[in-house]
Amino acid sequence: MTALRANSVALSEVTTIGVGGVPAELIVAKTYAELIESVSQVWATGEDWFVLGGGSNVVVSDQIENLHVVKIETTGIDRLGQGHLRVQAGENWDHFVEHCVEHGLGGVESLSGIPGSVGAAPVQNIGAYGQEIADVLVRVEFLDYATGELQILEKEQLELAYRDSVLKRSKVGVITWVEFQLLSDLPAGSRELMRRRRQEVLELRASKGMVLNESDRDTHSCGSFFTNPIVSASFARTLPLDAPAWPMDDDAERVKLSAAWLIEQSGVKKGLQLGDSRAGISTKHALAITNRGGASSKEIAELARFIQERVAATFGINLIPEPSFVGF
Ligand SMILES: Cc1cc2nc3c(=O)[nH]c(=O)nc-3n(C[C@H](O)[C@H](O)[C@H](O)COP(=O)(O)OP(=O)(O)OC[C@H]3O[C@@H](n4cnc5c(N)ncnc54)[C@H](O)[C@@H]3O)c2cc1C
Repeated sequence: MTALRANSVALSEVTTIGVGGVPAELIVAKTYAELIESVSQVWATGEDWFVLGGGSNVVVSDQIENLHVVKIETTGIDRLGQGHLRVQAGENWDHFVEHCVEHGLGGVESLSGIPGSVGAAPVQNIGAYGQEIADVLVRVEFLDYATGELQILEKEQLELAYRDSVLKRSKVGVITWVEFQLLSDLPAGSRELMRRRRQEVLELRASKGMVLNESDRDTHSCGSFFTNPIVSASFARTLPLDAPAWPMDDDAERVKLSAAWLIEQSGVKKGLQLGDSRAGISTKHALAITNRGGASSKEIAELARFIQERVAATFGINLIPEPSFVGF
């Protein structure tokens, strides 16, 4: 079977923030065999490449003429018993969450509504409302760029941390499937509680523009554009008393600050657009940079830099972008 090849699709059409030019080649892999075959073929050319899932955490440059892109659309949820599941990389994350909730499997219900694919979820250890994928991930299968071989990476080898993993920092390759251990054998009534939790999370996220909605420009984003900065407790004590700060579980000397608070307190307001730029801060959430319609990748990057400069000048803190930048 051969993967589908599209040679004139701009990545602005397949990324949620809606920027990105036409790559040299866009290969859509719909089966496991197609995924392995197309990634291996692209690597053999020695040219620039990139894998894409749901396109919800990438900012792609408008100039990517030499880039080869493999879009992963493999699907399938296999139940291995006792809450142990193997899920193909291209499976939609929220579909997987819904599947778990409807089968009474616990551990991901608070991660409802996060866009994107299962295979990308470990890359930044997705998290929300007190849960993160590290709580339930067991292992992944990984096609390693360095060796060209398939290997199994256990959770510990992924070095999952707050919006981070070894895959985001240094290890290059492609996740083909992910195995999870969910909570099973839960007491009677749990399924109903999980359903309710899922509904509450979806409503809360929608009110902040954090659930994809084609007709709502505030959702044409990458979600949070910056991670919450982690600083020393002593530095945090130099900030205004009302600055939100949460102690880190693994290190009492470090605290996590609210990037959204820092942005707003440095004078950058929700809804801000610079001059006639078509990039703007979400009207619902200071942490989301959105495409108000036809924005260029340069406009998105300029607004991001403006926010970073304002926060650095006000608080001496460098905000770190959360999405991957491609082709800049
Ligand atoms: C409205 C909105 C709300 C969001 N809310 C949250 C949130 O609450 N919490 C959170 O953590 N994130 C959130 N995000 C960010 C995003 O949804 C997640 O990071 C998601 O996991 C990205 O999945 P994706 O398939 O879209 O990845 P893509 O954007 O396609 O890719 C992201 C990165 O992962 C790499 N990648 C993709 N697939 C694979 C693979 N199979 N193997 C190896 N590398 C791969 C890509 O090369 C790229 O570097 C939000 C985004 C949006 C738009």
